[in-house]
Amino acid sequence: MTSAAPQPASVRFRAVVDRIPAYVPGARAADPAAHKLSSNENPYPPLPSVRAAVEQAAAQLHRYPDMFATELGEALAARHGVEASSVVAGTGSVAVLGHVLQAFCDTGDEVVHAWRSFEAYPILVQLQGAVGVPVPVDAAGRHDLAAMAAAVTERTRVVLLCSPNNPTGPALAHAEVMTFLAQVPPDVVVVLDEAYVEFVRRPDPLDSAAALAAHPNVVVLRTFSKAYGLAALRVGYAVARPEVARGIRTAATPFGVNHLAQVAALASLAAEAELLDRVAAIVAERDRVRAALLDQGWDVPDAQGNFVWLATGDRTAALAVDAAAQGLLLRPFAGEGLRVTIGEPAANDRLVEAAAAWR
Ligand SMILES: *Cc1c(COP(=O)(O)O)cnc(C)c1O
Repeated sequence: MTSAAPQPASVRFRAVVDRIPAYVPGARAADPAAHKLSSNENPYPPLPSVRAAVEQAAAQLHRYPDMFATELGEALAARHGVEASSVVAGTGSVAVLGHVLQAFCDTGDEVVHAWRSFEAYPILVQLQGAVGVPVPVDAAGRHDLAAMAAAVTERTRVVLLCSPNNPTGPALAHAEVMTFLAQVPPDVVVVLDEAYVEFVRRPDPLDSAAALAAHPNVVVLRTFSKAYGLAALRVGYAVARPEVARGIRTAATPFGVNHLAQVAALASLAAEAELLDRVAAIVAERDRVRAALLDQGWDVPDAQGNFVWLATGDRTAALAVDAAAQGLLLRPFAGEGLRVTIGEPAANDRLVEAAAAWR
């Protein structure tokens, strides 16, 4: 064989592909002793019952999974008090959101979302060929629902609400979402992204089931990645009216949710009480950390997820480097702030100490 230089590819990407910002994953630890507080993961390892279910399911790795995740879909439907045809599972709720956009958005259609919010939104929207309409969150990191309602035009096909908002932290109240839904035309899909709903402790929180019951254009997104601690397995789902779910299912990747993920999700639902005890412990730690940061004089937005937001502005990149040198991996948003996942108490203590030094 001669070793001629390989021909460069002369294929052409769609123009949007070169414009799309790269998704920045949370830093991964080179040092195994480092605390990974960068991806909003659950610090607890899998429950023994969940692990055992996965180990047993490994005997079936040569088989395709149940294409429709039937058993999981039925369990989720029972949990949400809807028909199984209302549930669409996917490889994480990020993938399910992609399918929602595929089902509803043509090129040039508009998607209204808050900003700063989940960094996957602009990526998924642009990849679909749609146009993102970002509406700034207010100074407290909250969605400006009046401005979002005003941003809805005839081109708008989808609105994304993120509650609690990643990365700033606040959760929406039920009444404000109902007011918003009443203002949005019924042919515009409103996605309620509730990736962190299990951590919410505000009074009068969004009741997405009631919102869906009253408004057929609502799509609720949930995930097993955060409260249920199954981030590695990639499983999330949408709950919507059957006629809405049908189109999302059409766009879904065939056999997307793998067998281990289906089994682990089912085992997690069976162990829900145990998992929610862990969530309660994380919530207690979150409130402890936020209180300590407020005491230090930081202006920390209401934290309703498993993370807190520090508006560190121009110092953000430097502080993330300093944190990493102390074994704390955080998620910097350059020029804006640091998102800090609540981890095990020792990691949280270290974060509070670092933050005191930064003041
Ligand atoms: C983590 C997260 C998701 C879910 O991620 P998956 O792992 O794909 O299920 C969805 N929305 C927001 C806002 C998130 O932070």
